[in-house]
Amino acid sequence: PECHVRFVLSDSGSSKGAALVDETLAPFRLSQDQLQLVKTRMRAGLEAGLKSKGPSTVKMLPSFVYRTPDGTEHGKYLALDLGGTNFRALLVNFKKGLQHNSRLYHKIYTIPQEIMQGTGEELFDHIAQCVSDFLDYMGMKNAHLPAGFTFSFPCEQTAIDTASGTLVSWTKGYKATDCEGHDVVSLLREAIKRRNEFDLDIVAVVNDTVGTMMSCAYEDPQCEIGLIAGTGTNVCYMEELKNIEKTDQKFGKTEKGEREEDVQDEVTEGEKKEGDAEIPRMCINTEWGGLGDDGSLDDIITPYDLEVNQNSLNPGKQRFEKLTSGMYLGEVVRQVLLDLTRGGLLFRGHVTETLKTPGIFQTKYLSQIESDRLALLQVRSILQQLGLNSTCDDSIIVKEVCGAVSRRAAQLCGAGMAAVVEKIRENRGLDHLNITVGVDGALYKLHPHFAGVLQETARILAPRCSVTFLPSEEGSGKGAALITAVARQKHD
Ligand code: BGC
Ligand code: MG
Repeated sequence: PECHVRFVLSDSGSSKGAALVDETLAPFRLSQDQLQLVKTRMRAGLEAGLKSKGPSTVKMLPSFVYRTPDGTEHGKYLALDLGGTNFRALLVNFKKGLQHNSRLYHKIYTIPQEIMQGTGEELFDHIAQCVSDFLDYMGMKNAHLPAGFTFSFPCEQTAIDTASGTLVSWTKGYKATDCEGHDVVSLLREAIKRRNEFDLDIVAVVNDTVGTMMSCAYEDPQCEIGLIAGTGTNVCYMEELKNIEKTDQKFGKTEKGEREEDVQDEVTEGEKKEGDAEIPRMCINTEWGGLGDDGSLDDIITPYDLEVNQNSLNPGKQRFEKLTSGMYLGEVVRQVLLDLTRGGLLFRGHVTETLKTPGIFQTKYLSQIESDRLALLQVRSILQQLGLNSTCDDSIIVKEVCGAVSRRAAQLCGAGMAAVVEKIRENRGLDHLNITVGVDGALYKLHPHFAGVLQETARILAPRCSVTFLPSEEGSGKGAALITAVARQKHD
């Protein structure tokens, strides 16, 4: 009952407070024009990344995946998936010709923070130990299965079947030493060798976006985009080979004449067919989280975002990701709450140790706080669990802050997605594009409003595209197994 007081009897004092809260949150409320600008900048980022042979903010990394699955994939594969917060080992069995018919076993392992931020050797030893445990669990230590490795960080690759990828830079919560600039598959192979206990044939390394797109495409052939909205954020999509200027020397017109079989040899403008089945494509890992690293998003960045960026493991990097992904949203919320508390508008002006603790607002708590089914008393009890003593007014304000921060995140992702689908539509010379996006990540899957706002924003900003969002079932790991199967079939 006391929770209705603010609405029923708001005295001049608390309405002045409400106005101040509103003022604080105003910079998070983006106008349609601002979102349109973000879309334009994302588009420019995509184009610049495709052309640049050197570093670019949106990296546009070639994945050497030339097609989505066609149902002929078959066999048993191991998939290893290093994500933002945990490591998953999976065993996937695909039956030939029968789509929707894969069996799957998996186990999840958490990666302790001291391992994420220790030495590279410790990190990969830990992963090898998890793999060992999984093989024991499955009773498959001697099976010697082909494995795919989903690695959710930016990697430079040269060809899928050599299974190598050089880590460009750590993102999210990782900063293990001696990994950047190294081939992560070699690092894993060396760790497995050090154990001297089992063998693994690592056939492919893939980004989680690519794995997600592949696993969703297994269900829906219109799926040609992969999106992660989780601890971090990223998108991949099928781009036309002729637009990928950065790989010209590496493979587009290779001196040795070695090209992947699925890539048609001489496709000239004249020969291109109607319909687009013949047009050679490659999946590009955009690494769109880097948009804004050159200052291009500075006009929408708030003082709270600046604070979060400064306190992060990678200041100045992944600026778009820091506005849109689970690892940072709670931190932005916390910075706003700190400010409101210091201004005496919240928590009776008491800045507690809890409020000063980084990472208290994980995605799952934001999701609970913003759930419309939750009464304010329940919001207060969540805050209580987090160690924050709130009044009823406090809980209303906290919920408002969470809403403003997560809504902005979803809108920005939607604006980015609009840029990607518009690019694909223009590539194909279509008046209207129907396309499916395979999606994974806790922010998308758990948050009560994120998915809806994302879709609505993409719909408004890309009116000539109908975009279907398909949550991935077994996500990036199963996709890595599919890519391994595709790579394997070439050698059979
Ligand atoms: C990484 C991407 C990854 C994304 C989602 C980002 O921090 O740079 O490679 O796809 O997180 O996991
Ligand atoms: Mg993942």
